Amino acid sequence: MTDLRLEGVSKVYGETGTATDTVALEGIDIAVRDGEFFTLVGPSGCGKTTTLRTIAGFEETTEGTVRYDGREMAGVPPERRDIGVVFQSYALFPHMSIAENVGYGLQFREPPEGLSVDERVADLLELVDLEGMDDRSPEALSGGQQQRVALARALAPAPDLLLLDEPMSALDAQLRESLRRQLKRIQSELEITTVYVTHDQAEALAISDRLAVMNGGRVEQVGRPQEIYREPATRFVAEFVGDNNVFDGEVRSRDGEYAQVEIDGERFTLSASDGTDRLTFCVRPGALSQSVERNRLTVNVETSEFLGETVRVNGRWNGARIVLQLPEVPERDELTVGFDPDDAHVVGPH
Ligand code: ATP
Repeated sequence: MTDLRLEGVSKVYGETGTATDTVALEGIDIAVRDGEFFTLVGPSGCGKTTTLRTIAGFEETTEGTVRYDGREMAGVPPERRDIGVVFQSYALFPHMSIAENVGYGLQFREPPEGLSVDERVADLLELVDLEGMDDRSPEALSGGQQQRVALARALAPAPDLLLLDEPMSALDAQLRESLRRQLKRIQSELEITTVYVTHDQAEALAISDRLAVMNGGRVEQVGRPQEIYREPATRFVAEFVGDNNVFDGEVRSRDGEYAQVEIDGERFTLSASDGTDRLTFCVRPGALSQSVERNRLTVNVETSEFLGETVRVNGRWNGARIVLQLPEVPERDELTVGFDPDDAHVVGPH
């Protein structure tokens, strides 16, 4: 089992300091614990894949270090890093059977625990719920099944570290969900240290022990899903993870842990004990309710989406985008909602 550390990792493509260089990563510090399911999440181009490729050794860092269990990995090629990697495209060998695909990596590395190749392959196919599929060819499998074969192949040599780059993005929503549950079960059964890349924040929250939210080549916040969701550290995290309503205001007065904050001439009371005069705070859609009498704001409704249990309402207040989560589709195009001071979360000065 392995812990993984990235310290001050930067990556520049092209020649540093020239007009054509691209700074893909800047000062990445991440510590993944032994046995942890750790996710890198962020929008397209934020550096997730580059981080994963740097961990795998497909890319050298421009600055900083990558350590497996304290061992510095600079100069160690991917094939000597004891890792299993799964990419978005299944990349199975089309001319080989499923069993041959899974056993592929065992030509170069002995199966663990004194098992024969056949025994190891059978164990892996059982683990990914594909028993009896040994002789099929990859093209006779669905996308989800093919991705499970790719996972079995990556796991066959019992690597210390499992690295997954958007492994489900080619699958439809239902399949993603079932594969996500399987992956989570397999990962916790094997207790293998795992780094998972996705741009899907809901998937990241659902699957991870902890996650790093990335933006523009930097890490904005690392935390457990609940922390990231409830206590976003920056405006970017607040907006990227879920449908937060983010506001900028001026502090007019303070009373203990509460502050009076003014936004465009209107006053709001928030739980905010830090000392800045200007602050950014967020309120989750579900915390804005017609039945709360404090901190009222009148929202112009633009669209409503029926989601089954709830209705997601998009609107505007003073020009700012507002998202509400209501029990019913609103009948009027203007709605007044309020929020409790304790439901506002300060994300930092702006
Ligand atoms: P996506 O979700 O779209 O895959 P990502 O978060 O994985 O995005 P990266 O692929 O890591 O992002 O890219 C980070 C930045 O580095 C981007 O600006 C990208 O254009 C750039 N980049 C990535 N690979 C190279 C390369 N080989 N040469 C030059 N620039 C690159």
